[in-house]
Amino acid sequence: MGRSAKVVVTGATGQVAYALLPRIAAGEMFGPDTEVDLRLSDIPQMIDKAKGVVMELEDGAYPLLSQVTANADRAVTHKDIDWALLVGSKPRGPGMERGDLIRENGPIFVGEGRAIAQHASPGVRVVVVGNPCNTNCLIARNAAAGVPSDRWTALTRLDQNRSRSLLAGKAGARVRDVKKLVIWGNHSATLFPDFTNALVGGRKATEVVDRKWLETEFLTSVQQRGAAIIAARGASSAFSAAQATVDHVRSLMTPTAADDWASVAVVSDGSYDVPEGLVSSFPVRVAGDGYWEIVRGVQLDDFARGRVSASIAELEKERTIVQDLVAGAAAR
Ligand code: NAD
Repeated sequence: MGRSAKVVVTGATGQVAYALLPRIAAGEMFGPDTEVDLRLSDIPQMIDKAKGVVMELEDGAYPLLSQVTANADRAVTHKDIDWALLVGSKPRGPGMERGDLIRENGPIFVGEGRAIAQHASPGVRVVVVGNPCNTNCLIARNAAAGVPSDRWTALTRLDQNRSRSLLAGKAGARVRDVKKLVIWGNHSATLFPDFTNALVGGRKATEVVDRKWLETEFLTSVQQRGAAIIAARGASSAFSAAQATVDHVRSLMTPTAADDWASVAVVSDGSYDVPEGLVSSFPVRVAGDGYWEIVRGVQLDDFARGRVSASIAELEKERTIVQDLVAGAAAR
């Protein structure tokens, strides 16, 4: 045991966090050689409840959990953190449009960005889970003057996991035989799971299953999966989101297998005509030195290009909706 990680989880009394926290404590995110100092962050009125979650974590007697605390003050929870897992955000209310939700949650991420810039360790890495996660990440990043753009990520891994599982089922294959099936664009109903470059058992997915099915049923099912879960369960996805968050962080810390890519929403450097600065999902690879890069030279056919463009157009629209938050965030 030599390593340790200071980790804040925001929205610590929410249902995603309830599924995520024990897995971090058990070492599933940072591995069996890393002790974790876990900080639970939430709004002041939820801190008593968060203390109950702290008690449960203590009662787990996790060997890797060196410390666990809860606080509503970001100056305390974000002090010297190595990882910020930003889950906390207000859920979408009845009749609320996506634009309303963006405006409602945006200010939370201005606060998060500033706190990260002010208190986190110089090597901090950020994962935004709270929705709309791409644009929340954009807001936080712009509020965090001095924190390099490669530290900011948002979660599209749940969409990747969903699409791989669905394709494997259709192809009669195992999930682990599906490779290079990654998400482009926004974590929303416009996301594009790129089946045109996906492989199943080393063969092109479009040769293994009917392309028409991929363009229609598959695409719609992945895009609408979140809504389908809410309709069936009466609550939004929780432990699958926690699983995806664990996968996301592990993918960022482990060299990517030679025959695969990972879906990560990152700050665009202008690749694939995605405007610089937008937080979009791309195929990403992590090299042996631990740094990630957007995979170069991926060919997108006309269908794929059209879908990616539609999702990017939505991200641009979202950026316009929060323009004032993005522009003034770092200055205040
Ligand atoms: P939840 O309603 O159970 O929990 C929300 C949490 O956010 C609570 O801890 C709450 O106290 C906190 N919160 C509320 N207002 C806040 C504020 N103003 N500032 C800071 N924190 C605040 O929701 P959940 O099911 O745990 O989901 C959490 C978020 O994760 C939601 O935004 C959800 O849409 C998102 N999500 C994203 C993905 C993804 O794939 N990116 C998947 C699942 C859920």
